[in-house]
Amino acid sequence: MTNKKNSFGSKSLREKAEKEAGKNVLTKPFLSEADSLKLIHELEVHQIELEMQNLELLESEERSRKATEKYASLYDFAPMGYFTLDQGCKIKSLNLSGAQMVGRERFLLQNIDFRFFVSTGYKDIFNAFINAVFENDIKQVCKVKLTREDHLSIFVHIEGVVSNEEQDCYLTLMDITKSELAEEKVLKSEMQLRELNATKDKFFSIIAHDLRSPFTAIIGYADLLAEQMDKKDYEGIEEYAEIIRTSSWHAMDFVTNLMEWSRAQTGMMGFNPKIIDITKLINDVLVVINDTAIQKSIDIRVKIVKDFTVSADVSMIKTVLRNLISNALKFTNPGGLIVIEASYSDSVSTVSVADNGIGIQKDTIEKLFRIEESKSTTGTNGEHGTGLGLILCNDFIKKHGGKIWAESDGKKGSRFVFTLPQL
Ligand code: ADP
Repeated sequence: MTNKKNSFGSKSLREKAEKEAGKNVLTKPFLSEADSLKLIHELEVHQIELEMQNLELLESEERSRKATEKYASLYDFAPMGYFTLDQGCKIKSLNLSGAQMVGRERFLLQNIDFRFFVSTGYKDIFNAFINAVFENDIKQVCKVKLTREDHLSIFVHIEGVVSNEEQDCYLTLMDITKSELAEEKVLKSEMQLRELNATKDKFFSIIAHDLRSPFTAIIGYADLLAEQMDKKDYEGIEEYAEIIRTSSWHAMDFVTNLMEWSRAQTGMMGFNPKIIDITKLINDVLVVINDTAIQKSIDIRVKIVKDFTVSADVSMIKTVLRNLISNALKFTNPGGLIVIEASYSDSVSTVSVADNGIGIQKDTIEKLFRIEESKSTTGTNGEHGTGLGLILCNDFIKKHGGKIWAESDGKKGSRFVFTLPQL
C-alpha cells in the first residue's frame, strides 16, 4: 500500500516535471552548443553546491542532536532534582535525580501530586511555599522532609519559580539530609551539654543549701538536748529527740538519693532487670518509712493482686517507690490516705501511688521531672526537700523504657504513675 502510494506519488511528480520541461522545450528556442555547455556547467556547480549544503545540514543536525543529548544528560544526571509542576502540584516532568529523591521510577511519576511525598508535619510549609511560588515572580525557598516510596526520609532544600506563562512552576531540589542530621546531632549534643550543666548546677546548689539544713537542725537540737540534760531539765526533750530523729532520717534519705543520683550520672550504676514481685518490693520500702506513716497517722493501702510481677532493676525501682511513697507521706496531712496499685495490659505494667494530700498545681506538674526546672516545696509538717527525688525516678524509669507522670487537680491529692514494659 505504502509502496503503491510512493510510486504513484513520485510517478506523478515525475510526469508533472516532464510536462513542465516539455512546455519549456516547446516555448523556448533551441540553445547553442556553447550555451548548453555553460548551462550544464552551471547545473553541475549548483548540484555540488546543493550537496555541500546537504552535508552542512547533516552536520548541523548531528551537532544539534549531540547538544540535545548533552543537555538531556546534564538535566537527568545533575545532582539536583528538577521538577516541573502544574498549579495543582501534579508532576509534569522531572529528571532522574528527582525520581531518585522520591524513590520511584520516573515514568511512574507523571501526573502524580508532588505533595504525596511531602512528610506529614511539613505539608503546611510546602503548601505555603507553592502558593508563594505561583503568586510571586521571585524565587521562593523552603526546607521540607520527603518520605520516599521505600519509607526512608530525606531532607530537601527546594527553590521554586513560576514559568513564563504562569501555568507551571520549576522546582530545584537539593538533598540536605547529611547536613540536617549533622545539625540535629549538634543540637542534641548541645542539649546534653545544657543538661549536664544543669546537673552540675543542681548538684552544687544541693550541696550548698540542702545538705546543711538537716545537720543544722540535728546539731542545734542535740546541743539543746545536752544542755537540758546537764541541767536535769527534761521539759520538751521528747520533741527535740523527735526533731533529731526526723532530721536524721531526712538527711539519710537525701544522702541516699544523692549517692544514687551521682552513681547514675557517672554511669556507675548497672542496669540488671529481672522478674520481681512488686508487692514484696513495696513492703521492703514500707519497712523503712513506716515510722513516718505512723507518726502522721497516714493509712497506706497496697491494692495489688497476689504474685504480681514486673521485670525491673530491683535497686532502681526501690528508689522510685521510696521517693514516691515518702513524697506522698510528706505532702499528705495527718490522718490521710495513700493507695498503691498495679495493673497490667499490652505487655506493660503500670504502678501508681495516690494520696489525698495537698495536690500539685498544673504549671508545677510539667516541671517536676526536668532538672533544669525542678523545684522543691515543704511538706505538710514543714519537711524540706531537694527536688532531686523525681528527677532520679524519671532517670530510672526511662532506663527501663517506661514513662512516669503525675496527675493532680491542684487541690485534692496527687497520683504518681509509672509504667514498666516487659523486658
Ligand atoms: P523533694 O520531695 O525532695 O522536694 P521531689 O523531686 O521528690 O523532691 O519532689 C519535687 C516536688 O514535687 C516537691 O517538692 C513537691 O513540690 C512536689 N511533689 C512531689 N510529690 C508530691 C505529692 N505527692 N504531693 C504534692 N506535691 C508533690
